[in-house]
Amino acid sequence: MNPKKKNLIPMSSPEITDVDREAVLSVLDTKYLSIGPRIKEFEAAIREYIGSQSAIGVSSGTSGLHLCIRAAKIEPGDLVITTPFSFVSSTNVILFERAIPVFVDVEANTGNLDMQQTLEAVEDLLSGGKRAEKWLPRKGAGTTCRLKAVLPVDVFGQPADYDILMGISKQHNLTLIEDSCEALGAEYKGKKAGKFGDYGVFAFYPNKQITTGEGGVIVTDNPEAANLMKALRNQGRAPGDTWLQHTYLGYNYRLNEMSAALGLTQLARIEAILLRREQVAHWYNQYLKDTQEVEIPFIAPATTRMSWFVYVIRIAKHIDRKLLAACLEKEGIAVRPYFSPIHLQPYMIERFGYQRGDYPITEDLGKRGLALPFSSIMSQEQVALVCEKLRTCIRKFSHK
Ligand SMILES: *Cc1c(COP(=O)(O)O)cnc(C)c1O
Repeated sequence: MNPKKKNLIPMSSPEITDVDREAVLSVLDTKYLSIGPRIKEFEAAIREYIGSQSAIGVSSGTSGLHLCIRAAKIEPGDLVITTPFSFVSSTNVILFERAIPVFVDVEANTGNLDMQQTLEAVEDLLSGGKRAEKWLPRKGAGTTCRLKAVLPVDVFGQPADYDILMGISKQHNLTLIEDSCEALGAEYKGKKAGKFGDYGVFAFYPNKQITTGEGGVIVTDNPEAANLMKALRNQGRAPGDTWLQHTYLGYNYRLNEMSAALGLTQLARIEAILLRREQVAHWYNQYLKDTQEVEIPFIAPATTRMSWFVYVIRIAKHIDRKLLAACLEKEGIAVRPYFSPIHLQPYMIERFGYQRGDYPITEDLGKRGLALPFSSIMSQEQVALVCEKLRTCIRKFSHK
């Protein structure tokens, strides 16, 4: 076999301009490489963009979600309803506090939490006993049944159903934590994602809509929680603590100044970035809409603005995705299965005894989902090339 061809078209590419370069470099000439003015400016820009009272810059989306779990006072054995169709972070942060993620399957078209099942799960878990058991893992959940929070994910940049989620949370006094790490700028019924929950989190890894290298931000309208989270990201130093005084058990979850500077210049052109991403998604939709073996992304009517994070197609059942992916990789087109169900990750099986078939929709999407190259800097020619190669590869494996 020939050595693998270098990827002509990568999975994702951040959009870095001279303005970004200049902003990052200029930080190096200041006294502050961390805990300086840039993070404050970046947080102010996020507050303004999202319309939240507070924004707390952190070192990653994962650390942001973890701080939300801490702020929600989630304790060992507590239950948090969440989705198995996500990046592992959204579940891991629950496990970091020895709490129990309770999975609810997703709806087939959007891949977001299924609201009918979420409603049922909340009522069953709150009533306890046999009814609750149906939703709990086979093992590892203990006997307590304190449902504390719901943690939905805005999958691929499409908001979950927040009218229902906010209703449930209010009615049953549950904390609502929005994992909007993939959804900066998305809108649900005309309002921005991240604002619906008690806390919302965005992430800025290089494949996200905007990047800070590594980084994230929490948005909230709860001032006490914001203060607590600011202390926790900074080694547990409360306002008034000196450098070596630590009121709380905290972490180093700070966002450094170079990252904050990059976030600022990136956020300044978020609108243009989102429009270009939408254009790229639109090209894909056009080129693929008549390809029988491919389902293109579904946008729910409540999604008044999709913030395109990735472009994930679903491949017809009769096509072997592994062979298809290998064929595309050979052509220089990077592709990736999206997502791998969380409940079937080895550590989850070991701890909770999950089995194949437990969350059938998540598993079906997991088996058939394929992310194509996607970024704000892709050209129409590149999109056309990906689609042409995709069809060629599909034809190869279609009649088997
Ligand atoms: C990117 C992402 C995160 C956070 O990722 P980090 O790499 O920690 O910034 C969390 N949840 C989802 C769904 C994500 O896509």
